[in-house]
Amino acid sequence: MSNIIYLDNNATTCCAPEVVEAMLPFFSQLYGNASSMHTFGGQVGKHISNAREQIASLIGALPDEILFTSCGTESDNTAVLSAIETQPEKKHFITTRVEHSAMLAMGDFLDKKGYDVTYLPVDSKGQLNLEELKAAIRPDTALVSIMYANNETGTVFPIQEIAEIVKAKDVLLHVDAVQAVGKEIIDLQKLPIDFLAISGHKLHAPKGIGVLYIRRGTRFRPFLRGGHQERGRRAGTENTPYIIGLGKACDLAAQNLTAERTQVAHLRDILEKGLLDTIPHSIINGDQQHRLPNTTSIAFEAVEGEAILLMLNKFGICASSGSACTSGSLEPSHVLRAMGVPFTYAHGSIRFSLSRYSTEDEIKKVLEVTPEIIRDLRKISPFSRI
Ligand code: PLP
Repeated sequence: MSNIIYLDNNATTCCAPEVVEAMLPFFSQLYGNASSMHTFGGQVGKHISNAREQIASLIGALPDEILFTSCGTESDNTAVLSAIETQPEKKHFITTRVEHSAMLAMGDFLDKKGYDVTYLPVDSKGQLNLEELKAAIRPDTALVSIMYANNETGTVFPIQEIAEIVKAKDVLLHVDAVQAVGKEIIDLQKLPIDFLAISGHKLHAPKGIGVLYIRRGTRFRPFLRGGHQERGRRAGTENTPYIIGLGKACDLAAQNLTAERTQVAHLRDILEKGLLDTIPHSIINGDQQHRLPNTTSIAFEAVEGEAILLMLNKFGICASSGSACTSGSLEPSHVLRAMGVPFTYAHGSIRFSLSRYSTEDEIKKVLEVTPEIIRDLRKISPFSRI
């Protein structure tokens, strides 16, 4: 697929070549089980420890605060389940209306179990009102779970202030940082949070590996029970190749984070400005001041996002729309609805998400074809008055 212009990196990323290279020996040469008594298996444990250090170092954590999981979803679910199991007397859970389904589904689950669930609203930029957060916290709040950055719009929440508010009330805080790790500078020595979720496939490691950061001293109950792997906190033989891959991916991210943020944001801004300048009736969804460097969600009035995606696809351009299929019809996503994006804009929302591998030529191609696509689609749109 060499002609692909991949601008859907919030959905998933390619494995970095360095990551693939680092993983390869662990499939066929160093395939021992880290729990085995023999040296062949035992040596694998050292490599896992090294990966744990690489991951911890990217986010300012201690190696023993890193728990390997299978994905971001498992990390999110585990944090919630642990918080409720360790505090059975507390029956209130706080999250936001714009979380990923990995957290919203946990809200539904707790609601059905008889918990009181508060979904904090957002404003038109997708930002929270921190006074509302403060007011929502109760003596029986078991956990506050708030994402670091939104996967659809890239809006970054003020996590430091959020953490200070939640910790001042002595309540557990989980942060879904799946979209932020590798893109934002995160230092957990300064950020007082208890749990944090990471997903490998969002930062150029493979799909099927994740991390749950658990601050030292936080009470914890495992989700998977069985063997004694991960110091009894997650049973199941370690996925060594992918753990090594995630370690390498974090190392690469740490080495290049600041320069990469500037480079990716520069290309994103060229793309964004180019589209806004050439396509009338288009707006940016989300908070442009506090946003991931790689993401832009652009709403084109009076066109269907799916139609735009199909047309872009003809040119090999991969992006995402801001709609979800609900009961057979296309609805604007829960994120755009929570922000109150007008219906005719929300329907025509497209997310472009770049990576370190995105190039200026790719952006030029998108800028060359998109205005005409929108013009053509507006000619046949039943909503069009443009
Ligand atoms: N949380 C956020 C914010 C995400 O964007 C995603 C994936 O898109 C997840 C959680 C789930 O991660 P995974 O696909 O690794 O389960």
